[in-house]
Amino acid sequence: MTQAEMNLGMLGHVDHGKTTLTEKLTGKWTDTHSEEIKRGISIRLGYADAYIYHCAKCDLFSTEAKCPKCSGKTKLLRKISIVDAPGHETLMTTVIAATSILNGVLFLIAANEPCPQPQTNEHLLVLNATGIKNIIVVQTKVDLVSKEKAIESYNQIKQFLKGSVAENAPIVPVSANYNLNIDALLKTISQVMTTPKYDDSAQLRMYVSRSFDVNKPGAEISALNGGVLGGSIVQGLLKIGDELEIKPGVIKKEGAKPSALNCKVKLLMEETEKLEVARPGGLVAIGTTLDPSLTKADALVGAVVGRKGEVPDPAEIVKVKYTLLTRKDIENPPLRESEPVVVNVHTSTAVGFVSGIAKGIATIKLKKSTVVYKDMHVALSRRFGQRWRLSAWGTIV
Ligand code: GDP
Ligand code: ZN
Repeated sequence: MTQAEMNLGMLGHVDHGKTTLTEKLTGKWTDTHSEEIKRGISIRLGYADAYIYHCAKCDLFSTEAKCPKCSGKTKLLRKISIVDAPGHETLMTTVIAATSILNGVLFLIAANEPCPQPQTNEHLLVLNATGIKNIIVVQTKVDLVSKEKAIESYNQIKQFLKGSVAENAPIVPVSANYNLNIDALLKTISQVMTTPKYDDSAQLRMYVSRSFDVNKPGAEISALNGGVLGGSIVQGLLKIGDELEIKPGVIKKEGAKPSALNCKVKLLMEETEKLEVARPGGLVAIGTTLDPSLTKADALVGAVVGRKGEVPDPAEIVKVKYTLLTRKDIENPPLRESEPVVVNVHTSTAVGFVSGIAKGIATIKLKKSTVVYKDMHVALSRRFGQRWRLSAWGTIV
């Protein structure tokens, strides 16, 4: 087993334990807090792989190659990528815009607070909007409450989920801090989160969520490595030697349309594993023949990668069939003409303004063109004071 087989998103109110649980499952800390992220403009997906092992002798699930109970050798069952986006607004926006990247969601709800908390409520709205069906509810922080309180909280959660997409989702109580019931959670993940069947013959499509220059400053030109692209493959197969096309690409002259980039695949990796072929699952890094100056500092985030001639031209105007999100903390009236909005689709973030509204469809002119596909999920944010807040979700028509 080399590449992660699928991606799970993490949802839940602030401080309900997303970062802590991710660390428990993957050994990695994914939280990052930049100013941009706090203001809700930029999207920064965090990926960390969870290895799920099983000891047949003890029938125990763990994240260890050696059984925590009998010290015997365990069997690696699954490798699953946990995808996280820090900050409430970015998290919601990401889950909507990047639904196609996610195969399931862990929905965290703390046992020591009444349910629903405001963000828990909004996350359920988002889950309903995206239609993601593979959901496990994780009741966190059970170490902080008595048994009676934990049961009361469980019943409250059950009540809250009634009539939603998560109505029948399993609820697993855990304490990440005391390693309580994490084995049961791993077992539930293995059972509920079945790996999708990927169609290798589907047209290749990858959304770029990272791009960088791996060379050290001052390196000899002859020793330079090509630019690196990181992202999620959503369909198709990628092999070393493949010829790729990247759109929108780069703007060569101010005011000009972006030009597509072409390159060859020299190296493929997923976390620490070198791959011969890459499929959907986890954060795939592609070592390319691109000039590294084109990929440095996340310059190509939001681009779409496909085979030569197969990526559609970027759109400057998008039409979105949208539904307003009911938010308790802010007034969210219907979109207005000429209002500025932020449009998030896949990993792309673009500022635009509403140039027309008719029959629930907003026409939006983007400042920076982006590749879109019909029926793709879109998150629309509007400005409230200094911040952009998620206001609507929809699909590209
Ligand atoms: P996030 O905002 O959802 O990512 O929440 P964090 O993972 O940052 O957790 C917020 C706080 O709750 C931190 O101080 C954690 O140490 C604490 N925490 C997380 N999980 C547990 C748990 O299971 N039990 C207890 N007692 N504290 C927890
Ligand atoms: Zn064992």
